[in-house]
Amino acid sequence: METNEKLRVLPSIDKLLAALVNEQEIMQYPHELVTACLRQAVANTREALLAGKNGSVSPEAIVNQAKILLEKCTQASLRRVINASGVVLHTNLGRAPLSRQARECVGAVMEGYSTLEYNVESGERGTRYAHVVKPLRELTEAEDVLVVNNNAAAVLLVLSALAKGREVIVSRGELVEIGGSFRIPDVLRQSGATLVEVGATNKTHLADYEQAIGPNTAAILKVHTSNYCIVGFASQPDGKELAALAHKHDIPVIEDLGSGTLVPLTVDGQTEPTAAQRLRLGFDVVTFSGDKLLGGGQAGIIAGKSQYIAKMKKHPLLRAVRIDKLSLAALEGTLLDYITGDPVQDIPVLRMLHSEPSILEERAKQLYKEITRYSAALAEVIELTSLAGGGALPGAVLKGYGVAVSCQNISAENLETYLRQQSTPIIARIQDNKVIFDVRCLEKENLAEIANALVGVS
Ligand SMILES: *Cc1c(COP(=O)(O)O)cnc(C)c1O
Repeated sequence: METNEKLRVLPSIDKLLAALVNEQEIMQYPHELVTACLRQAVANTREALLAGKNGSVSPEAIVNQAKILLEKCTQASLRRVINASGVVLHTNLGRAPLSRQARECVGAVMEGYSTLEYNVESGERGTRYAHVVKPLRELTEAEDVLVVNNNAAAVLLVLSALAKGREVIVSRGELVEIGGSFRIPDVLRQSGATLVEVGATNKTHLADYEQAIGPNTAAILKVHTSNYCIVGFASQPDGKELAALAHKHDIPVIEDLGSGTLVPLTVDGQTEPTAAQRLRLGFDVVTFSGDKLLGGGQAGIIAGKSQYIAKMKKHPLLRAVRIDKLSLAALEGTLLDYITGDPVQDIPVLRMLHSEPSILEERAKQLYKEITRYSAALAEVIELTSLAGGGALPGAVLKGYGVAVSCQNISAENLETYLRQQSTPIIARIQDNKVIFDVRCLEKENLAEIANALVGVS
């Protein structure tokens, strides 16, 4: 058929609707929506023909296009993905997957009313913070704690409450930028505090801090270098000495721990400081995220001395950065895992970081088996390395396993795109012209899902 003729015989919307009349699944949607998708499919076909591309004008072909459009617009945009990237705390993929207990707590609260700010003992108004104060105090050994929306908000609140209009001393080696426009100098400015930089990029001495302390100093701020390491000729003063110096001058030491961890964690010889360790050194206030190594939902945790936390509780910013009930439920559920369970087994992030290579190899072999059962693609089990991600353990290399897939009929780039555009996207990486599925963050059911997506690919 000539292009002109094809354009002439493009089916009418009525004809297409008639072809769909027995398709319950499609016809359950509002008539206007179905019609709009059909119109769009016809328009796309017409455009393709006018652009000189070959296309079928059969009603079936156009209806199929419309079905794809309909699926796209009836599906939530924020949805589950399969993380085959191997990055455990992937900020773009929602950071920490929740534990069973955390999911149950969220489920219970999201379905109806809750004790969010209600004290059932007294029948009076309560506070949302009360639900997590006890476990967090136990785990951080802090006098008091406060929880906000995220760690960025926690840092902003701490600085606003303790340092507004005054100076805050920070080492030049710790003027951190986290992905997505969180920069320590900018946050300081936003809080109304003035940054006083001390030391050099690689070295800051205790004396540098001491010389910078003056009558207008509000605090010393330490920031965990979450996403980089300064190695070689580098040093920072001992934490205990720094705390002692600050207290001699009657000012607090605040630390933004970034990821923070509630249990001692060593991966590939790298450790992340626990909140309790830092507070024990004499630091007055620490802040950290709820959805990084802690393994819960988005939250910012502030732990430290009561006298400072009390100022934050009274600060007007607290209301603006308050945590919502679903995140709070996720946090409480995760904290219950720490206190009543085995966190390394129960909390997915910690389990994934500690996965034994033998377990990962077994999982990779299983994935290989499932893939090769249905697909003619070339697959092999490979050794690889993964990252913790999410501003945690920046220098740590995690040894693991994966499956590398290459095809005759489709390039690695096109296969990666195809997988990413599935209704449940599969996020893999490309290495040496192969698509790599790192199995570290995969659950059992994901293996079959990946294999299914590869059916027919060769
Ligand atoms: C991740 C991180 C933050 C931001 O934490 P969010 O919970 O994402 O707001 C702040 N500071 C440091 C050092 C971090 O690593």
